[in-house]
Amino acid sequence: MGSPIERIEVIPLRIPEDKSADSDGTVDTVLVVLGDAEGRIGIGESDAPPEVVKAYIEMPTAHIWSRNSTHMLLGSDPVEITAIWERLYDGTLYPGRRGLGIHALSAIDIALHDLAGKQLGLPAYKLMGGARRERLRPYCTIFPGMPMGRTLRQLLDLTFRQFERALAIGFRTLKMEVLYFDLVTDRELAAAVAEGRRALGPDIAMAVDFGYRWSDWRQALATLERIAEHDILFAEATLQHDDLVGHARLAGRSPIPVCGAEFAATRFEIKEWLDVAKVDIVQPDISRCGGLTEIRRIAELAAMGGAQVIPHGWKTGILAACGRHFQAACPASPLFEFISPKVYESPLREHLVGPEPEVKDGTMDLPSGVGLGVELDWGVVERYRVKT
Ligand code: MG
Repeated sequence: MGSPIERIEVIPLRIPEDKSADSDGTVDTVLVVLGDAEGRIGIGESDAPPEVVKAYIEMPTAHIWSRNSTHMLLGSDPVEITAIWERLYDGTLYPGRRGLGIHALSAIDIALHDLAGKQLGLPAYKLMGGARRERLRPYCTIFPGMPMGRTLRQLLDLTFRQFERALAIGFRTLKMEVLYFDLVTDRELAAAVAEGRRALGPDIAMAVDFGYRWSDWRQALATLERIAEHDILFAEATLQHDDLVGHARLAGRSPIPVCGAEFAATRFEIKEWLDVAKVDIVQPDISRCGGLTEIRRIAELAAMGGAQVIPHGWKTGILAACGRHFQAACPASPLFEFISPKVYESPLREHLVGPEPEVKDGTMDLPSGVGLGVELDWGVVERYRVKT
């Protein structure tokens, strides 16, 4: 048996710059730190409003279905990860069974994997059943930021500079974010994607993220048909997130695999994405969908539903590490999203934890070390800790 959880700290972090007009998930995070009697700690994070997650985890107990999560965790054996997950889920059914409650549970579940791995002397992927592949394959998201007054030319030039950086450090699969909204027509958007393909050449795998551009699946389809000749790996965030029927119509006709579900929480929501939306690829975020425990259940469902899992990830090195452990242990996951601090500048992404994995010929080694295999820099925690 593992050493019981003795200490729980929930720490909101935020960078001082105002980036509220942009779309950057690395401006803040909320850490969950679990400590045992021997002084080991496990760390997790959630891509959700930090102070709200903290308040949720620490809320006073009202009754059996609305309980304080820290009280349920104290004294628990961190090795019993699934049992703890179920206890927390059942104990917060009133406020927590979707959305924010699951985001908070995700951070706890990630921290449990880290702490249990450290206690047992194993990397987290071995707790998840062990390696199902020899090398990992990340894709690097290329995002010049929201338009914010810039021209299409300026956005594309920055995009292509980021392409060059990503390729120079070893990535072979990239995703071009084309969140141009009203700056371009659909035809101009298709031309920008064509220019992206020319910049990369034919040998680099290229996906495209449209940033929820369309409400009408026929309009989305027209653009996907127009760009299909450019060998697009998948089309992300085409229609409005909760338009499951529209996704089904699009996915049934699109020449490019259609993705969805990056905001989904729990296997129950993903089941709707598989049964109703019928997308080719689901993209749950490990720090929002219910953690490593839940995304493994999701992967089993996806495999039975003829879909693949390519997790979303736009947070710090903690979530980036989760993507690696998940893909290591999951045959249904051909790729995972990875933002590189060498391509996209972000102080929390770059400095909060280390070491940073190397990319070689488009792939990474299996994670090494115990637990998640990354360590917090407490100086960085203190620097960005939200003063409450
Ligand atoms: Mg995205």
